[in-house]
Amino acid sequence: QDFRETLELTPLSTTDTIEPRRICVCVRKRPLNKQDINKKEIDVVSVPGKGALLVHEPKQKVDLTKYLDNQVFHFDYSFDETATNELVYKFTAKPLVQSIFEGAMATCFAYGQTGSGKTHTMGGDFTGRQQNNTKGIYALAAQDVFTYLHHRRFVNRDLSAYVSFFEIYNGKVYDLLNKKAKLRVLEDDRQQVQVVGLEEVLVSNAEEVIKMIQIGSACRTSGQTSANANSSRSHAVLQIALRCNDRAATLHGKFSLVDLAGNERGTDVSSNDRSTLVETAEINRSLLALKECIRSLGKNSDHIPFRMSTLTKVLRDSFIGEKSRTCMIAMVSPGMASCEYTMNTLRYADRVKELNGNSAINGAAKTQEPLNSSSEEESVDDTSVYD
Ligand code: ADP
Ligand code: MG
Repeated sequence: QDFRETLELTPLSTTDTIEPRRICVCVRKRPLNKQDINKKEIDVVSVPGKGALLVHEPKQKVDLTKYLDNQVFHFDYSFDETATNELVYKFTAKPLVQSIFEGAMATCFAYGQTGSGKTHTMGGDFTGRQQNNTKGIYALAAQDVFTYLHHRRFVNRDLSAYVSFFEIYNGKVYDLLNKKAKLRVLEDDRQQVQVVGLEEVLVSNAEEVIKMIQIGSACRTSGQTSANANSSRSHAVLQIALRCNDRAATLHGKFSLVDLAGNERGTDVSSNDRSTLVETAEINRSLLALKECIRSLGKNSDHIPFRMSTLTKVLRDSFIGEKSRTCMIAMVSPGMASCEYTMNTLRYADRVKELNGNSAINGAAKTQEPLNSSSEEESVDDTSVYD
């Protein structure tokens, strides 16, 4: 593929149109922050076009022609440091909000190294950390859910919205809307996965969702034991479910928004502490499982290896069925010191989108067959999260 032909050398703008895809993979570069500038960090990441991202040697001016052939990564969309959360939202999660009204199981992941901007993008900075009221994808999605619910343009049934918010740490699920109660994950004989006792709060406007986000985010960072001192070691999952107003409150569609644990490699952990190593191994395993599940979705494969981790188990519905939609936003830090992590993140994202060729919305329908433990092994074709 000659990137020179496909590259549109203009930044993404709000007037661009969105191509709906089953799997969408994007990358977002955050700006250099005060700490970076204090450390005299050099920006080595460029976004030369609407889907491209380039990691280059520290030079004042980037000679594009030198890099275009081999060192450019190409995604559905790429966002540079000037992109706002609103712009990122418009191209990533907004189409998914629409899809849950059509009955989809939609999922949006923020992936990347600690400090690369996952929580800023998902939670925004209004969740108590800073006072600048930047809304994140959680709040922007919640607003649109209620806009659609109230306008009834998309609604052909009587629906209500419910919110749940939980954290997965070391393979265990903790309810962020119920004082971090530890919950069990069960799979029934029809392979339906349930988080037993998960709090699901009926909400009637976006403000109520934002309140739940604030309660859950505060719960996430407070009262942590020394073994769980850092929220960047856990995955946070906010779910907005649309249920029919019938007796059984039948599920109509669901949007899962996931702020993933930092993808730092085990070898980079300075501590030799056993619990840290176990923790890191668990994170790597779940990120590997996630990659394999999205790839299976992209391949229209019958075998989704969702049992590989708690994360993929609880998100099982997201990886099956014609109506599943997934968006991954890979976050990168701009600094030279983060270069290795940035490359790892980009390679991971590249693998997720690789088999994406025919996964546009009208792609082949997928049959769903029962899984067994041997089929699970076969579909895992590599063992590294990063290759
Ligand atoms: P992560 O959740 O990936 O560990 P954070 O979202 O906490 O990273 O981001 C680290 C720091 O960088 C925070 O202070 C955050 O406010 C800031 N930051 C991240 N992304 C952006 C951005 N796009 N614009 C401005 N500041 C950002
Ligand atoms: Mg974070």
